[in-house]
Formats: sequence, C-alpha cells, structure tokens
Amino acid sequence: MTLQMQIAPVPPEQRQAKPQDPTRLGFGRVYTDHMFTMRWSAEHGWHDAQLGPFEPLALSPAAMVLHYAQTIFEGLKAYRTPQGTVNLFRPADNAERFDRSAERLALPLLPPGAFVAAVEALVALERDWVPQAPGTSLYVRPTLIATEPHLGVRPAAEALFFVIAGPVGPYYPEGFAPVRITVAEHYVRAAPGGLGAAKTGANYAASLLAAEEAKAEGYTQVLWLDAIERRYVEEVGAMNIAFKIGGTVIAPPASGTTLAGITIRSALHLLRGWDVSVEERRITIDEVLQAHADGTLEEVFGAGTAAVISPVGLLAYQGRQYEIAGGGTGPLAQRLFDELTGIQYGQRPDPDGWIRAVPPAPPTPRRQAPLPLPAAGR
Ligand SMILES: *Cc1c(COP(=O)(O)O)cnc(C)c1O
Repeated sequence: MTLQMQIAPVPPEQRQAKPQDPTRLGFGRVYTDHMFTMRWSAEHGWHDAQLGPFEPLALSPAAMVLHYAQTIFEGLKAYRTPQGTVNLFRPADNAERFDRSAERLALPLLPPGAFVAAVEALVALERDWVPQAPGTSLYVRPTLIATEPHLGVRPAAEALFFVIAGPVGPYYPEGFAPVRITVAEHYVRAAPGGLGAAKTGANYAASLLAAEEAKAEGYTQVLWLDAIERRYVEEVGAMNIAFKIGGTVIAPPASGTTLAGITIRSALHLLRGWDVSVEERRITIDEVLQAHADGTLEEVFGAGTAAVISPVGLLAYQGRQYEIAGGGTGPLAQRLFDELTGIQYGQRPDPDGWIRAVPPAPPTPRRQAPLPLPAAGR
C-alpha cells in the first residue's frame, strides 16, 4: 500500500509577501505558506498525508503532548546554491535520529522514507522561500506530537507529524562573534537513562532557567556537565562541543546523555581527512582548565545546524573566567566553518555525498502525489 499525499496549495493571491531583507530575519520568526501534516493512530497507522496551508493546529486541551511532553523534533536547513538550485544537508541522518527520538519518547516511528519525502516535498513547494543572500537559508522543523485527548499516563494512541519551514538570516550577521559560555554548576540537563539523547522539548524546558541566569550574567550559553560526577563536559545549549588541546581535537562521545549532532560528526570527519588528530572521549572540565593553565588549550568550538561552527572566546567556571584563542576565532574553527558552509551552499565539492539536491517542483502542483513509502504502524 502506498501513502497518498493530498496537495492543497494556497492560491497565489493569498500567499504572503516574502521578507524584504533576509539578512535581517533572525531565527524562527517567519514561516512559509504551507506545511506538511500526517496523522497516526494505533488503529489506522499513518494516514492523511497532506501538503496544505500553514495554519494553527486544532488540538484538544486534553492532548497528551500538552500534559506529558510526548513530543520530538528535528532541525535542518535548505540552502540556495550559486546555480539557484536548493540543497539539503544529510537529511537521512536527521530522519534516523528522529526515529531514535521517537522510540525513546514512545511515539510511533514514521514509515521508512517518509521523513525525507515530507521535507523534500515541502521544500520543493516552497523553493521560492529559500533566500539567496549569503548565510541565509530555509530552516525546516519536522515535529511529532501526541494528540490523543487523554489524561491517563501512557503512550498516546494518536499522533501528528508536521513539518514547517521559515527563512532565517545568517547566525552571525556581522561575521563570527565568539560566544561566552559559563559552566552550569547548579543545574543538570540530562542524566544517564534519561532523555538526553533524544531531540525533545523536555530537554529544552530543563535548560531554560539555567540559560536565563547565564544571560543575566552576560554569557551567551551554558556548558553542561555530566549529572553524576559533575566533571565531564557534555554539550552547550543546542550545540555539541570540541576542544583543541596540544594539536588534538577532543570531543565528548555521543554517550546517551548528549545529542548525537550531525554537524559535529561532519566536522570530526573533515578533521580526520585533514590529518588532524581527533579523539572522541570523555573530557573533564579540570582537564580543559589544566590545558588552559599549561597554554595548550588552543581552541574551543560548538557545532550545530543553527550556527554551524561557533567559536568559544570565553569560558567561566567557579567564579573565574578563562579567555580562549585570545577571545577570537581560532583558525581550525574558521576552516571548519568555511568548509562545511561551502559544501552546504554547493560552493565546494561534496566528496562524501552529504548533499541531497531538492528536485524542482512541477510547474503546476498536482492535487495528489504518492509519498513513496509503505503505510506502517508503530
Ligand atoms: C540539535 C541539537 C544539537 C546539534 O545537532 P545538529 O544535528 O548538529 O544540528 C546539539 N545538541 C542539542 C541538545 C540539540 O538539540
């Protein structure tokens, strides 16, 4: 059985005007004209795939997501190339992570292929929304929520998968701005056996207060330590982190309490190809600060889809501040940023096949198209 996707395009005269200056968009404020939706129930499996208008959801106040936080999401970008085509970066990796998150949150798995097919169908329809200006992109947010109206605590028997998208500006409109991060000393993001490896709203809810307190003290983000010994570095806000110490790049492993980031995995792969020594292992905050004292802490950088590479210029811990790379951007962080964005925007070769070009939408969108996948349940 093949899932059919209904297409209900918004009439051209009802579509919004595109933003005038995409470099000033910021992040997550403007959305395109359409969204993808698909429903699931324990009884009927996946059904009702639709590419229709971007509009508010009708949701019962008893919908389980609102009470028990049964929700997961992904974040990826569509990039405009110099030739005018549109690229996605490793979307199958986002699909795979979405499955792992769904499993952990006891949500239904999408039918194989549905994640990428839905993202591609939406981006193809909204291709004119992919901005041209340097550093801009179309951010895509696939999400799965428990919609069953039920207040008993158990996995929901109804769920909604949706994909929305919106143009975003460059993360650093004025060029690289190294971030100031402070180590979270009172709060924990994720404990072993918890939700840390899932991309789920609850992890963010747990992080907000720490982030607000850090901001009030003049820091951009929080660096999380492990929950048990409070010594091992885990990750930063919505980014993974790496340390260059004495020529070697050390990155905490995707251990179950951190999110397995696609950007850091790509960065480490590039580094190995450049013959830079890479170690994926646990690293304590003490080892980092000892390297700082020894003068061997060369660079610290975050990696995530939003900023790609985010140099850390200052680290704060136990009331002391440590300047890194002279408070600026280290050469390796810069080279990684240039190479990754070069590949994403189609300006550099893609030897590892990370790019998936979005096929052009048909000139007149059809009313129905097969989503090339079998219907399947949980
Ligand atoms: C999304 C995310 C990352 C970065 O993952 P990418 O795949 O590189 O975008 C890192 N940490 C957390 C907590 C995240 O949610």
